[in-house]
Amino acid sequence: MPTLNPTHDPQATSWVASAQATGADFPIQNLPLAVFRRAGSHAAFRGGVAIGDQIIDLAAAQAAGVLDGLGAQALAAAAEPTLNHFFAEGPSAWRALRHGLFDLLHSSATGPKVDALRTCLVAQFDAEFTLPARVANYTDFYTSIHHASNVGKVIRPDDPLTPNFQWLPIAYHGRASSVVMSGTAFHRPHGQAMPPGAKAPVYGACARLDYELEMGFFIGTGNALGEPVPLGEAEDHIFGMCLLNDWSARDHQFWEMNPLGPFLGKNFCTSISPWIVTMEALAPYRVPAVERPAPEPQPLAYLDGAANRAAGGVDVQLTVGIESAEHRARGLAPAEVSRTNFHHQYWTIAQMVTQHTVGGCNLQPGDLLGTGTISGPTPAEAGAMVELSRGGTQPITLAGTGETRTFLQDGDTVVLRGWCEKPGAARVGFGECRGQVLPARAR
Ligand code: MN
Repeated sequence: MPTLNPTHDPQATSWVASAQATGADFPIQNLPLAVFRRAGSHAAFRGGVAIGDQIIDLAAAQAAGVLDGLGAQALAAAAEPTLNHFFAEGPSAWRALRHGLFDLLHSSATGPKVDALRTCLVAQFDAEFTLPARVANYTDFYTSIHHASNVGKVIRPDDPLTPNFQWLPIAYHGRASSVVMSGTAFHRPHGQAMPPGAKAPVYGACARLDYELEMGFFIGTGNALGEPVPLGEAEDHIFGMCLLNDWSARDHQFWEMNPLGPFLGKNFCTSISPWIVTMEALAPYRVPAVERPAPEPQPLAYLDGAANRAAGGVDVQLTVGIESAEHRARGLAPAEVSRTNFHHQYWTIAQMVTQHTVGGCNLQPGDLLGTGTISGPTPAEAGAMVELSRGGTQPITLAGTGETRTFLQDGDTVVLRGWCEKPGAARVGFGECRGQVLPARAR
């Protein structure tokens, strides 16, 4: 687990003035990675690092030779059109890039390499983003006890929590091909649903389309087939985290998922934010794993460890906004419908990696793991509409327009935001993850 070092100094500032703007997501202490190019250009996509409202073009920085040694090697890999090779280089390379760029971006930095770096900036406003890695595998967990209880009450009112929930981080293997970059719109999916009381299922457009507020995390270095990752080493395999929206067709999902798990209810689209915030940037925001007071079961030995108990959690503040067509037409901000924190999650990201690999499954650089819906203990902290509307029975009202929703309507854009903030540390933001629901295609 990364420890605090000079790159976390809350007093550090950059010669990129926008990095010091109040509430900025990307100060010099953050330095997240994405893959981008100038919008509308036919240039190759390349890695970039955010600083303020700018992006360091890593391909240009590599050509300019701004880093030496391991930093130069890391920079060459991070300049590629996907970050898979950079991920595979491991924590020492990730650290070399972060620390090298931090030194060059610092307000006190001078010299020819700093001058060269000044020519490598692209305004984020002028950029378009693509997936940061070739995602060969996507796994989605189910690790919020509050979400599991809330959804369980809709499906199984008498016994909402499944017997395995407190013993292992539950997951299903998701669909990697439909993971998309923030900003991608998608059509309301078709599928099969069993209406309440009906004798036969119906085929048609999803009537209960939902979002799921999640975080995603990217596997950096993989593990060999047959070689599990022990809990104490799990974080060495995690490169960083992003925002993730696991769009869900609830009517299709609840009809199809017994006994093998989600299929079409989840496989039509999963959106992620462009920026991956590194685990090193998140170091000031590590918090203890959720306590499990008796009689709750304690984790089995392979899922338990002192470091995980002390600092396995991450304090990330999260919001969900819905921007309806009317919000857009009237120039109104999205209506905030949920506000919660990732530190409520019952299982930690290290425990997810260990559980994933304990049977010998090999994770690969660029694999994407979703944390599962993030819901806190109170109703306002629910991370999905199926919870907010109590299974579609209690509509919620959207601020700004006064419209009501039980599930998403055509034209709705869902905006996830996340950031870390506390006294004595620099704010570290994730930017946003957005996606829009288009009407179902005619079939
Ligand atoms: Mn999910």
